[in-house]
Order: sequence, then C-alpha cells, then structure tokens
Amino acid sequence: MTSSADQLKKELDALCLAFASKLAGKIRLIENNWAGIERGEWDANVFDELHRQVHSLAGAGATFGFSRLSDTARTLERLLLLMAQESGKPLGADQREQIAAGLGAMVQAALEPDQECCVGRPHAASVFQYPAVEQRLVFLADADISLARTLSRKISYFGYPVQIFCDLDTFKAALAQQRPAAIIMDAAFPGEALGGANTLAEALNLGETPVPVLFVSSRSDLPARLQAVRAGCGAYFTKPVDVGRVIDKLDALTTRRPPEAYRVLVVDDSVSLSEFHARILKGAGMETETINDPMQALDRMTEFRPDLVLMDVYMPECSGLELAAVIRQQEEFVGIPIVFLSVENDLDRQLVAMKLGGDDFLHKPIQPEHLVSSVASRVERSRALRSLMVRDGLTGLLNHTTIMEQLEIQVGRSQRLNGSLSFAMLDIDHFKTVNDAYGHPVGDRVLKSLSRLLRQRLRETDIIGRYGGEEFAVILNDTDGLAAVKVLDQIRDDFSRLRYLAESGEFNVTFSCGVAAFPHYAEAGKLNDAADKALYEAKRSGRNRLVLAPG
Ligand code: GH3
Ligand code: MG
Ligand code: MG
Repeated sequence: MTSSADQLKKELDALCLAFASKLAGKIRLIENNWAGIERGEWDANVFDELHRQVHSLAGAGATFGFSRLSDTARTLERLLLLMAQESGKPLGADQREQIAAGLGAMVQAALEPDQECCVGRPHAASVFQYPAVEQRLVFLADADISLARTLSRKISYFGYPVQIFCDLDTFKAALAQQRPAAIIMDAAFPGEALGGANTLAEALNLGETPVPVLFVSSRSDLPARLQAVRAGCGAYFTKPVDVGRVIDKLDALTTRRPPEAYRVLVVDDSVSLSEFHARILKGAGMETETINDPMQALDRMTEFRPDLVLMDVYMPECSGLELAAVIRQQEEFVGIPIVFLSVENDLDRQLVAMKLGGDDFLHKPIQPEHLVSSVASRVERSRALRSLMVRDGLTGLLNHTTIMEQLEIQVGRSQRLNGSLSFAMLDIDHFKTVNDAYGHPVGDRVLKSLSRLLRQRLRETDIIGRYGGEEFAVILNDTDGLAAVKVLDQIRDDFSRLRYLAESGEFNVTFSCGVAAFPHYAEAGKLNDAADKALYEAKRSGRNRLVLAPG
C-alpha cells in the first residue's frame, strides 16, 4: 500500500472505532425511547425520534463496518413505519412484541462487526476496550400469560426489553436463533412439573456462552431448586415475585455498562504530535482535547474535567514540569494523574518530574497500544479511588458534596454558553412510614430502585446525586424548566406505579419534586433554594407531585 493509502486506511479505521465506541450510547437512547412507547403511551414525537434514530443506524452501520446492524435496523425501521401509519392508536401487544424482537436483533447485530472491520481485528481488540453495546433483551418463559405480561411490564420499566414465551417449543426455537441477555423461566409448565428446568438444561448445553437464568417457581422444595441449579440457574425466586429483587439480579447478571468514555487532555506545543496522540486515544474510545499553548491548560481543565493529563515535557513559555507543579497546587485537580510524554531519557529529570507531581513517564515515540494501555490503567485506578470519595455507597449516585460542586460547575458552564439548565430536588413521601412498616432493608431497596430509575431514564449528560437520606438531586443540562418538568413528572408517575413486595404485603411509594431553572435563578445557591422551596410547596399541597419554582 502506498503511504497515502495507508494513511487513508488508518483514518477510516479511526472513524469505525469512533462509531463503534458511540454505538452503545445510541442504542441506549433508542431503548429509552422505546421503553416510553412500550408502556402504551402513544407520543408521536417520541415515535418520530425513535424512527429517526433507527433510520440513522440503518444508514451509517454498513459504512462503518456493521452491515448486520444496518440490515436489522432497516427491518426495524420498516416495522416502525408500518405502525406509524396507524398512529394515534396505542400499540397492541403483538406490535410491541415485534418491535421488541426487532430491537433485540439490532442490539445483537451491534455486537457483531463485519469480518474485515477494524473493530473486530485482533490488533484492534487490544485497543477497543469497551463493550460495543449493553445488551439487555430478556426472554421470559411462563405458561401463565397474564402473569408473564404483568412481570414483563414491570421489568420493562427498568429498561429491559422483554420477549414473552408461553410454550417451551417456541422458546426453544427462539433461543436457537438468538441469545438473550438473560432468561427468566418458570420451572413448571402444564403437564411437565419440571419442564422449564429440563428444557433449559438441554438448550443451554448447546450454547458456547452461558446465558444467566433466573427461575420463578411456586415451589420452594429442594428437588425443584436442585433441578433449577442443574439447569444453570443463577437465582431462584418463589412466587409471588418481588420485582425489585429480580431487577437487582438482572442488573448484576447482565449489566456491563460501557464506562463513560475516559477523558484525556493532551498538552503539547507540537500541533501534529498532539493530534497524533489524541487520535490514538480517540481510536480507543476515549474523549480527548488538545492544547498547544500550556498557558491555557488550567482553563481547559476546569471546563473539560479530564480524567488524565498527557503532557509534553519541553514546551516554550512554561515547561511541562512547571505546569504539573501548578496543577498540583489546585486542590480540585489533586487526584488527576499527569503522565509525561517526552524524548527525555535522563533518569534525574524523570525523578524531578515525579517529584513535581507527575505519575508516569512515557517515551516518544510510543507504540499506540502502549500509550492506550498506560493511559487506560491510570484512569481506571484514579476513577476507582475517586469513586470512593464522590459516590454514595448505597445507591452509587454522587454524594451531597459532589452534586453541589457539580451544580456550581454546570451553572458556570451554562453561563458561558448562554445555555439552559434545570435543578431538581426529589424527596420520597412518608418514607419514615415505609421503614416503620416494612423495615429498613426494604426502605433501602426503595432508595436503590429510585436511583436506578433515575439513572435509566435521564440522559448521560444529566447528573444525579443522593442529596441525603431519602432526598435526591438532579442537574439537567441544556434543559429548560418546562422540559425538565415533563421528564421528571413522567418518572414520578412511573415510580408511583412500581409495586414493592414485603413480607407483610405489597405497597407502593411516591416522591415529591421541586424544580428550578437557570437563568431565572442564576446562581447555584439560588437554584438550590428555589428548588427546595418548590419541593416544600409540593409536599404542602399534597405530595406525589411536582412544582416548578416561579420564573
Ligand atoms: P415527607 O413526606 O414529609 O418527606 O416524610 P418522610 O417520612 O419521608 O420524611 P422524614 O424526613 O420525616 O423521614 C425521612 C426518613 O428517611 C427517616 C429516615 O429513617 C429515612 N432514611 C434516611 N436515610 C435512609 C436510608 O439510607 N435507608 C433507609 N431505609 N431509610 C433512610
Ligand atoms: Mg426528607
Ligand atoms: Mg421524605
């Protein structure tokens, strides 16, 4: 190959990798939109958006090495168009199942790039570190159709598309075609006391990758459980099923969330070198920003919030070593790893660099794989440490201090960009009564379920925190008050419909919410006060409602 053809190939590969690294997010958006429609609320706008998203995958997939994705997306698109013609009418159960199946096929196809696509090639595998997609299709096999529908609806509230099977033959046929993320199986089928378990024991033997299986059963005796274990059962629930626990298990067994892309700030006075290194990191799914003037570094750090700084040692005006020392003097940046990249071979200088706050020293020219793995392992470790400091242990959401810091940062960003932002405070209603009636562990489950619902329903750019006890705070970037109210009120409504099971019976829980919007409230403190007052008003006027602060 000529060197220019070589270069072109490289650039195309980089584009394919970039497409692949964004696929998971795109599919999640599609799934979220679908989850809204699947609940049976017809919304033409959401449907259009869903159609547009699927259409765009159909168009782009093949270009970037995902032909099967294009095919499945096109099939799904046709299905959606057919249904749109009868729009206005809520979708029937059959239509919903068809779409869920189409979506499942598309999700699967996203995991299967073309043979010749760089994403699937062995050398790229070491670079392409993140799973392309979060696969969540669940097969639910239960002879009792009404029970299966109810369970499926509840599970779908948590973002798992479900395909229902009422007889074992159809189930087996589908399983031969497609591997779901998990299987929920009733152990008993009419005429066959252990039919479900036996079918699975047979069917799963054939597969190369194990599929997690959850059993639901009206029997809790040892022979039934034993048969389930033999069939590869990962969890066993007796009926009536506590959906919260099923979801916890599904989450644990299936979720390999693609981590938020690593953010790397590349500081190098050479434009071409900084671009080169940035491109390698981008190819591995990371987000990068490059700076060629070290004097801009502090500003960019505040804005971009990198996970790591990759820095040249020799630069005019301010050397990398000096810059590292300055960065380390800012408390907010203390935990961010700094990796030097230089032709420097002199050990003494390297020691000075370390002393001034550098974490690693890499030599130019560096092998792409080496650069990616050094950066990735540093970021991973520092994220893990940071997460201990900034996240709440029960829910995994940001803790109080961090969400308040974020509010300051995001308000600053909105000011600079002249954008919009909304801040919401949520407080569970009469939560003390839940604890008193059902016990603290059940209360904890409710807290976790609300945090999960928020995470699944809000966008990746929204920031969610546990404000304290049973209070949550959400920052919705680029969202005005009315849009925020629409989204949060839908979540409020869905949350109020979730039913929890405790020993003493079923119950449901509600929350109240106060929302305040920037720029009417132009500072973090004012947004916080206004949202708090609106929340108080929501409580005062009857709870299980949402109030928007006047503005
Ligand atoms: P209101 O509708 O006015 O908000 O009533 P409330 O009962 O929710 O409010 P209150 O502030 O009186 O009680 C909050 C309860 O939340 C008291 C506390 O025991 C409970 N709580 C706080 N943190 C946790 C937790 O981590 N787990 C559990 N299970 N309960 C918690
Ligand atoms: Mg409270
Ligand atoms: Mg409360």
